[in-house]
Amino acid sequence: MVMTTNKMRPKPTEDEAFALVNAATRISWHNETVPCPRCGKYLNYKQLGNSFVISCPDENCIEVGGRGI
Ligand SMILES: [Zn+2]
Repeated sequence: MVMTTNKMRPKPTEDEAFALVNAATRISWHNETVPCPRCGKYLNYKQLGNSFVISCPDENCIEVGGRGI
């Protein structure tokens, strides 16, 4: 999987990026609500073809995208 980050947002740490990708799996497969590892707001998951973006609803918080899972 190729991971991408949004340059308009703060860069997630390795642990946070891992948590976001993990959350994306939980949301897309199990329809769970997963809190942001940084601020605790519920994450938004968006899928586009074979890529996805998992982001905090807070625009000043973290976001990670992925391709090819
Ligand atoms: Zn957040």
